[in-house]
Amino acid sequence: MSLEDLLIARIAAQGPMTVAEYMAECLLHPRYGYYATQDPLGARGDFITAPEISQMFGELIGLCLAQAWFDQGRPTPFTLAEAGPGRGTLMADLLRAAAQVPGFVDAAQITLIEASKPLRAIQTETLAEYEVAWVEGFDALPDQPLFFVANEFFDALPIRQFLRDGAQWRERQVGLSDGRLSFGVGPAQPQPALDHRLEDTRDGDLIEDCAAAAPAMDAVGRRIMEQGGVGLIIDYGDWRSLGDTLQAVQKHGPVDPLTTPGRADLTAHVDFEALAQATPSKFTRVTPQGVFLERLGITQRAQALAAKLGGDSLDQLIQAHRRLTHPDEMGQLFKVMGLYPDAHLPPPGLDA
Ligand code: SAH
Repeated sequence: MSLEDLLIARIAAQGPMTVAEYMAECLLHPRYGYYATQDPLGARGDFITAPEISQMFGELIGLCLAQAWFDQGRPTPFTLAEAGPGRGTLMADLLRAAAQVPGFVDAAQITLIEASKPLRAIQTETLAEYEVAWVEGFDALPDQPLFFVANEFFDALPIRQFLRDGAQWRERQVGLSDGRLSFGVGPAQPQPALDHRLEDTRDGDLIEDCAAAAPAMDAVGRRIMEQGGVGLIIDYGDWRSLGDTLQAVQKHGPVDPLTTPGRADLTAHVDFEALAQATPSKFTRVTPQGVFLERLGITQRAQALAAKLGGDSLDQLIQAHRRLTHPDEMGQLFKVMGLYPDAHLPPPGLDA
C-alpha cells in the first residue's frame, strides 16, 4: 500500500478532496506523510533552507532577537519559540550567537512546535546541551513574553485554491481521472470570506487561502501584544498572492504535485497580507531577506569568518553569502515580516 493507493481508494469512496486535504495527507499522514517518514533537508534530502546553507543566518536571527529582548527591558523568563525547526540548526546557531547578550539564554524557555517525529529526534540531538520543550500547537505556548521565529514553516501549511467564476468561486479539487489522481474544480459557490479578493481578481483567476495560518498568527501575536516580545516570519511569498503557487520538490527539483504523494515536499507561497490581518500585534513592512540580512550585518559577519578561512571553505562561505542575500538567489524571493507590541520598536532590520 502506498499513500497514492490510499488516496485513490478514499476519493473513489468519498469523492474529490480539497487541495488542502490533499496537502495535509501528503505532508502529515502519520504513516506515509512526507514529514512523518523522513528528514527532507540538506544536500542529500530534497531541498535546502537558509539555516542549512550557513550558520550566519541563525546567528543574525539570534542577534536580532537578543537585541529586541534587551530593548524591551530583558523580560525574564520568556518563551523562545520556533515553529517548524527542521534539523534544529537555526535554533542552535541563534542560541550560540545570542549568548553574547548576557542573561538571554538563561532567561529563555526554548519551546518548539514540530509535527515530524524524525525531525523531533534530530532536534533533540542538535540541541542536546539545552533544555527544550515541544508543544502540540500554538495555543499551548506559555502566557509570557514571546520571542518567536519561523523559517519556511508557513509555506508548509495546507492551502485551498479557488478559481473565480463571476462573483463566485469554484474550489480546485483532487479527484480521479482514469483511476489516477487528477485536478478538477467543484461547483461555483459564493465564498463570503473571499469577498475582498473580488476587488483585485478577474474571471478565471486563481487565489489561495491558508486557513491554518490565522489561528497560529493570532496565538503568537496575542502573546506579543499582551506580554511583550517579537516575532520573525521568514518565507517565500509576497504581500498578496495571486495564481497557483502549489509546488512539489524532490531531490532539489520540481515534480508534479500529484505523481508522488508523500514522497515530495509540497509548499505554497505565503500570503503575508493574510498573516498580517490575523495578528493582533503590530507588524512590520514585508522586507526582502537579502535587505534584512544586510541590515543585520551579514557582510561584516562573512568578512570576520573569511579572515579565518582559505581554499574551499572560503569559496563556500562566499557562495553562502551570495545564496542568502543576492536578488537572483534567495535574497528577493524570500521575505521577512516582524511582529511587535504597541509600546516598542520593530525588531532590528525591519521597518514599521
Ligand atoms: N525551519 C527549518 C525547516 C523548514 S521545513 C529550516 O529552515 O531548515 C518545514 C518544517 O515545518 C519542518 O520542520 C516540518 O516538519 C514542520 N512542519 C510542517 N508542517 C507542520 C505543522 N502543521 N505543524 C508543525 N510543524 C510542521
